[in-house]
Amino acid sequence: MSGIQAVRGMNDLLPGERVRLWHRVESAIRELTSLYGYQEMRTPVLERTELFKRSIGEQTDIVEKEMYTFTDTGGDSLTLRPEATASCVRAGIQHGLFHNQQTRLWYMGPMFRHERPQKGRYRQFHQFGAEAFGWDGPDVDAELIIMSSQLWALLGIERITLELNSIGSPAARAEYRERLVGYFGERKAELDDDSQRRLGSNPLRILDSKNPEMKTIIEEAPQLADYLDDESKTHFDGVKERLNRAGIDFRINQRLVRGLDYYTRTVFEWTTDLLGAQSAVCGGGRYDLLVEQLGGKPTPATGYAIGLERLIELVSLQGGGEEEGATDIYLALLGETAELEGVAIAHQLRTEGYSVVANCGGGNLKKQMKRADRSGASMALIVGDDEINAGTVVIKPLRGVGTQVTVERDSIQSSISGFLVEEN
Ligand code: AMP
Repeated sequence: MSGIQAVRGMNDLLPGERVRLWHRVESAIRELTSLYGYQEMRTPVLERTELFKRSIGEQTDIVEKEMYTFTDTGGDSLTLRPEATASCVRAGIQHGLFHNQQTRLWYMGPMFRHERPQKGRYRQFHQFGAEAFGWDGPDVDAELIIMSSQLWALLGIERITLELNSIGSPAARAEYRERLVGYFGERKAELDDDSQRRLGSNPLRILDSKNPEMKTIIEEAPQLADYLDDESKTHFDGVKERLNRAGIDFRINQRLVRGLDYYTRTVFEWTTDLLGAQSAVCGGGRYDLLVEQLGGKPTPATGYAIGLERLIELVSLQGGGEEEGATDIYLALLGETAELEGVAIAHQLRTEGYSVVANCGGGNLKKQMKRADRSGASMALIVGDDEINAGTVVIKPLRGVGTQVTVERDSIQSSISGFLVEEN
């Protein structure tokens, strides 16, 4: 019988450099959110299926074909969350977070979509997202966009472009939608199967089509910008003005409508040419209708989500990679007494704040030094029974300069910190 493999499109993250990159990105996110005064929120990965049907919309790819949905033993239809905005809104309504207050939130965690797995597209992937509830002006849209751009700066990412659009008010969209149905309806024979289906259900999504054969007909389609209502135009100008003042470059992309139904006015996407076909790293926008749609009081809202796998790939490609291993010391122990006393030495060092990997499973000096090298530690402490008797330890730097020295056990700490300073 062959071994059991991971579910297709779901990745193991093995120990090593990649995990350190994840840690780096996660700490940058924590730093970023605290710089901007956003507060973390954690919600369950399982929600009632209804939540996503009502928020994302029945006529979307996600709800139509990408959700992991099942009926539990109690007969409830549950879904592994494909995104977390709906969960934030659900939790916010449930716990009264939007009542007469304005709230800045962020979340991070796994999402699940049954898409065709390929590089940069997985069935379990992770998103960091930020959401602001209770403000309807362009200031908070700009704040969120500037905040996302600061994450690129914190991580040393440069090759990334901001695309911006406004999809207007629901009324303006309805008018545009009608116009679009008329236009595509006249040229129905030129539409591919997906687009023909969307014509009846969600015609704006035809503009999202990635099929090259659809390019011309989409290019020639009426433009949403011509249907924008005055308030949305003013709002959009306000966003652009603030981005200009903050020195954030952007490109207006009239075709940017975003796949999800709940957006209004500002929509944006950060893309890069470094990741091949999966070029979108971050997507976001305003969704003033969602809270009400899910049963809350009308609450304006805006936010974004960043795909962490793609972001991490980008960090590794832009040379932000190699970080030192976190281990300070490998403790080599030779002889029975040293092995016993080693537990006390390691414990004391860790209490003082050093990270220590203690040798387990015996082995001669050569073997233990090989393990020490592989551990990524900055130095080895070597303790044999002779050293125990003499009350000393041997310190051997493993990287950089410095030679092996023997020091009194009582002065280990000062000698070690001397080595760590030299290293840096
Ligand atoms: P969305 O929720 O579809 O707006 O996606 C926001 C971001 O999440 C995208 O820009 C991607 O970076 C990331 N993302 C979406 N779907 C996937 C996926 N299947 N695999 C990896 N990343 C994804």
